[in-house]
Amino acid sequence: MTSGILSELVAIVGERHLVPGETLRTRPLDFWTDDPTIALALVKPGSTAEVSAVLALCDDRGIAVVAEGGRTNLNQGTRADETSLLLSLERLNAIGVPDEGALTIEAGAGAVVQTLQERCADRGLRFGLDFGARGSATLGGALATNAGGFQAMRYGVARDQVLGLECVLADGTVLRHLSPYAKDNTGYDLKQLFIGSEGTLGIITRAVLKLHPAPVTVNTALLAFPDFDCVTRTLGRLRRGLHGTLSSFEIMWPAFFELNAATLFGARRPLPPGAALYALCEAEGFEPDGDGALFEALVGAALEAGDVGDAVIAQSSRQRDEFWRIREDFEAEQALFPVLIDFDISLPLARMDAFVGELDAALRREIPDVIALHVLGHLGDGNLHLTTGLPTTERRGALKALVYGLVARYRGSISAEHGIGLLKRDYLHHSREPAEIATMRRLKAALDPRGTLNPGKVI
Ligand SMILES: Cc1cc2nc3c(=O)[nH]c(=O)nc-3n(C[C@H](O)[C@H](O)[C@H](O)COP(=O)(O)OP(=O)(O)OC[C@H]3O[C@@H](n4cnc5c(N)ncnc54)[C@H](O)[C@@H]3O)c2cc1C
Repeated sequence: MTSGILSELVAIVGERHLVPGETLRTRPLDFWTDDPTIALALVKPGSTAEVSAVLALCDDRGIAVVAEGGRTNLNQGTRADETSLLLSLERLNAIGVPDEGALTIEAGAGAVVQTLQERCADRGLRFGLDFGARGSATLGGALATNAGGFQAMRYGVARDQVLGLECVLADGTVLRHLSPYAKDNTGYDLKQLFIGSEGTLGIITRAVLKLHPAPVTVNTALLAFPDFDCVTRTLGRLRRGLHGTLSSFEIMWPAFFELNAATLFGARRPLPPGAALYALCEAEGFEPDGDGALFEALVGAALEAGDVGDAVIAQSSRQRDEFWRIREDFEAEQALFPVLIDFDISLPLARMDAFVGELDAALRREIPDVIALHVLGHLGDGNLHLTTGLPTTERRGALKALVYGLVARYRGSISAEHGIGLLKRDYLHHSREPAEIATMRRLKAALDPRGTLNPGKVI
């Protein structure tokens, strides 16, 4: 511990902030993977200067560095090995005071997303990024993976929240451009290189974020539809009619919805089974006197037009939470699939239904032991999550090849939100052309010539 590189690291961060590799082995790799965490050590710098010193040292000694936040990524993006160093940003978690006029806030990469949301909410402001892992995921991880989530339709993805960024290159160079301006055309927009680069181009240490006024009303409904065209017509109706206050439109195909509704609520389930599709939609507005009535009127009009077959509007915050549990709970799925294989893809809205039908038929035909296909997603962003399962791992590769091959044929994206990490690296060519991948490699070589940062991930 106190010899060689480890003692040099201790000299930078202090003994208390270096966790030895042996201790890490008792910790699971990440949210999904029970494998032990393998690394030379985990280092926790307390400032940008310390991050810079750690990186310069490792770059000089040829030691790979893998950044970690809340370890909630779903692609083994933080997997290291016994020769590489894990670098946690957890001590860089300071959150500034929101600027209520400019609608901005500065925060450290280690800030937990939910804490940041709450800090903004206390001032009547909204940080426009929200997803299930909010309680563990960090700002740095969310930016490094360009996270999306439930409200991307309204506020955009992580990229859209960032005005300024501070990050550290592999050789320790600090790039600081904590610009609070929406308009800043001073040369290349370097920050966008690091957002979504999954720790392969630089370590994000701080950001200036855009905020929004926090809505004061919320109206939530579960809708049942006779077919997919009715779903897209209803999405359009709500987007237009709600004057931009529609924040979520979460579609669920019946195999997923009915499993969760029945498992969680049994006979008390909010909608009966039998519809072709379901959606949870939510509007958050600013007019306590009118928002509820407008929402109800639009749902009523969709019912009258025959686009919506059945609807239930939440009458209390408890009922709203129950609706969201149907969308967010994965325990029943985990119990159903001994080997769970999930996909996070984008597709053109107009071709989604055809894709799901074709995939379902192809899976039954070519992977007969597939247990089921569950489909849900953030419809307004063109993002679907597919979950499948097999009794054993034997056909996992064949199943993935089938799904990604079909996504490529529909000109979709093999990663809508979760990034590439390790698990999707070998499928990147399904969504990016050879010239694009070659350009990514040139960027990597320019910014990290020794391949110090998160080697083997993304490309
Ligand atoms: C239940 C659940 C629900 C989820 N829902 C969504 C969703 O709706 N939308 C969505 O987009 N994602 C979702 N995710 C995925 C995940 O939450 C996001 O990818 C998240 O933002 C990762 O943040 P993290 O702090 O956990 O990062 P980690 O998992 O620790 O790291 C993610 C990647 O970023 C790198 N990294 C971490 N910190 C830094 C840094 N400071 N600088 C540079 N690189 C860094 C790591 O090396 C790794 O490659 C979900 C995950 C779970 C478990």
